[in-house]
Amino acid sequence: MKTLLLENTEENIARAAEILRNGGLVGIPTETVYGLAANALDGNAVAKIFKAKGRPADNPLIVHISDFSDIDRFNLVEQVPDTAKKLAEAFWPGPLTIIMKRTDAVPNEVSAGLDTVAIRFPSHKTAQAIISQAGVPLAAPSANLSGSPSPTTALHVMSDLNGKIDAVVDGGMSDVGLESTVITLAKSVPRVLRPGGVTIEQLREVLGEVELDSAVLHRLADGAKAASPGMKYKHYAPKASVVLLKCNDCEYIDYVNRNADEHTAALCCDEDIPLLNVVCYRLGKRNDYALQAHRLFDELRKIDGNQNIRTVYSRLPSLEGVGMAVYNRLVRAAGFEVIDLEKM
Ligand code: AMP
Ligand code: MG
Repeated sequence: MKTLLLENTEENIARAAEILRNGGLVGIPTETVYGLAANALDGNAVAKIFKAKGRPADNPLIVHISDFSDIDRFNLVEQVPDTAKKLAEAFWPGPLTIIMKRTDAVPNEVSAGLDTVAIRFPSHKTAQAIISQAGVPLAAPSANLSGSPSPTTALHVMSDLNGKIDAVVDGGMSDVGLESTVITLAKSVPRVLRPGGVTIEQLREVLGEVELDSAVLHRLADGAKAASPGMKYKHYAPKASVVLLKCNDCEYIDYVNRNADEHTAALCCDEDIPLLNVVCYRLGKRNDYALQAHRLFDELRKIDGNQNIRTVYSRLPSLEGVGMAVYNRLVRAAGFEVIDLEKM
């Protein structure tokens, strides 16, 4: 199959929508990361997503809509809880996915056998136009090969999926840079299953009590059932091994420089760069978590492009604000290996 790389024009948006209506797959820009979209109401189209990505069949997909009323229009959810309305009011369109009890209108392929469905209304104008012109909700996981860092540019999508999907629409670099925050309303207390651009602090401001699923910060015990199936897979990992250090700034610099050789790199903050004697991949300013989130996957892909690198040292991020999302992706990229210099 030839994959079309389409510029972000009205004509191409219409073309992408037509491909989707006809059961095809299109990489679409969103403010979180690029999504690999298919008609969410067509189980056969959705099955192609799993094949193209090499995604495990038990990992459900997020359904993307272009208006809150689409939830009722397509009969996706049994009953929309008041909490969902509050969240939508505060954070939609935007990087928040809401999980609710689903109806039978949602194909099994989308919800991977669960009795719930994950729904998001993205803020990216191109994504909105493609969804509304397709005339159906779109199931769209991140448009990467399963296991590799999520794509934040159209070229990332091409590098993973060229030849496997119909088209990619180039809408520029994703603003947030990390996948959406996922919150489930299918439990007695709302619970965050994955942190993202909408922070747990912001969610608590709107809903009051919000729990944090233990899989967000910790490795799942062997055999434990993941509330969010995606959380059990090793994720976001470049080919080099990522080693996370729990330490202060000076200890980080000192440790990396002492362990440096020609195969070592640092994934670090701008302030560290002049002090480090290794190849540096920059996340951004130390306290700018949004910038670190924006850059993380792009930097992981750049590290992948350097065959020479075998070990990448990074610091355990702060859990504050969007820092928690950066933390969550980095500990997964590191397979939860953290060296605690404070204890040594
Ligand atoms: P991706 O779209 O690739 O960012 O992955 C979607 C994430 O949302 C994965 O971690 C899924 O496991 C999770 N997810 C999607 N639908 C559900 C659901 N119904 N219940 C729990 N987690 C879900
Ligand atoms: Mg993904």
